[in-house]
Amino acid sequence: MGSIASNHPLVLLFPFMAKGHTIPLLQFARFLLRRDLTVTVITTPANRPFVVESLRDTTASIVDIPFPDEIPDIPSGIESTDKLPSTSLFHKFAAATARMQAHFERLLEALPRVSFMVTDGFLWWTLESASKFGVPRMVFYGMSNYAVALRREATKSGILRGPQHEDELVTLTRFPWIRLSKNDFDSVFKSPEPQSLTFEFQMNVVSATAKSYGMIVNSFYELEPVFFDYLNEESAPKPWCVGPFCANIVAEPELQPRKPGTWIGWLDQKVEEKCSVLYVAFGSQAEISTEKIREIAIGLERSRVNFLWVIRKKEWGLPDGFIERVGNRGMVVREWVDQREILMHEGVKGFLSHCGWNSVLESICAGVPILAWPLMAEQFLNARMVEEEIKVGFRVETCNGSVRGFVKWEGLTKLARELMEGDSDKGKQVRNKVKQLAAVANKAVQDGGSSYQALDLLINQICNCRY
Ligand code: UDP
Repeated sequence: MGSIASNHPLVLLFPFMAKGHTIPLLQFARFLLRRDLTVTVITTPANRPFVVESLRDTTASIVDIPFPDEIPDIPSGIESTDKLPSTSLFHKFAAATARMQAHFERLLEALPRVSFMVTDGFLWWTLESASKFGVPRMVFYGMSNYAVALRREATKSGILRGPQHEDELVTLTRFPWIRLSKNDFDSVFKSPEPQSLTFEFQMNVVSATAKSYGMIVNSFYELEPVFFDYLNEESAPKPWCVGPFCANIVAEPELQPRKPGTWIGWLDQKVEEKCSVLYVAFGSQAEISTEKIREIAIGLERSRVNFLWVIRKKEWGLPDGFIERVGNRGMVVREWVDQREILMHEGVKGFLSHCGWNSVLESICAGVPILAWPLMAEQFLNARMVEEEIKVGFRVETCNGSVRGFVKWEGLTKLARELMEGDSDKGKQVRNKVKQLAAVANKAVQDGGSSYQALDLLINQICNCRY
């Protein structure tokens, strides 16, 4: 563990307590350490073991501050949104984090001079603390430029509150080649209820973001230049495209190898049998109904593809006899896996994904094409981006002719083979495109690449600014 007192500029990282927000910031810590900066990560007691394990081979310091207790409806001891009994409790959880502010400020008092901090957009109250201590705050959202730009334009243009039907396709003047519907956006953007906790939270987040020094974007310029340029010109604060953080930037550390999961042996065996495998996973957060699990199961069974399916919750049951019927063609895993390791495995040739932004980037970096099955938040926009904009996959939902309608197994059956090994031009194009983008992504973060240079510029600017 590195010492906090050091001659190198000190950067504080404060991730939001959700795996999809924490993982990329911990990866970003490595980008900063590579620049010889001193890094301190703030976490909470229950999240500490995950943070420590993720950075075990680095010199980052890890400090925890108490998480608020007695949050209405949230069982005590839950300090991460992926452990919430229901996603409907998200805003109560996020709003309660403001009660950490006094502890955070005591820590700022105790630390030597902090050059800048990178805190999650959901921790809006850190801006006030940053201002009190004269520290520039960079905000981190973990979304694509595409999703941020489309949300912004759609809100500005009024289409979200306009008379259109939910799935009627409309065009935004600024991006005329994109046709989207209200269904592509979360309800909080379409029908915010003033005075509600959700509305108040959104307002706090938006206002603190606008006043922050800049925005750290986990993406690379070459992936979405039009949307980056748009945000760079039109929005505050300025975006800094310095990712993808999942790209491999350093040689594997010399550590005791972790015990490989049994699924890696199973994947090795599939490679020996010259079979390709579809990796199926829906992130750390989203709820999946029994009906959707059933459609996925039928789709996988009938598609005849080999698959490795990670099912997050024990209570999400599979149809009777499913495991027996698919036999050794499929493997179901009910524990936390190293998703990057799976995607990098040579047997994995496709990813059925909810299109959380980290999953999209991890798939791109591994050169694996995507079958998009979005479930919530900005995943519908990411899925559209995957299919229409960057062309590294197909959306399962459009196969049924419906947008955000109930996705049926037929789409999965039809597209899984086409994605991984079909002879159609469509399949070949996405497989080629994702391989090309993998090379560009990995180059962007290497010495001299676009993200590498942008991060150098940012560090120079922010460490030399008189704030
Ligand atoms: N993840 C993982 N193992 C799991 C489940 C998830 O490593 O068993 C990681 C995944 O690699 C990604 C993150 O958790 O880095 C999930 O982020 P994403 O944006 O894809 O989805 P979210 O969980 O935020 O919906």
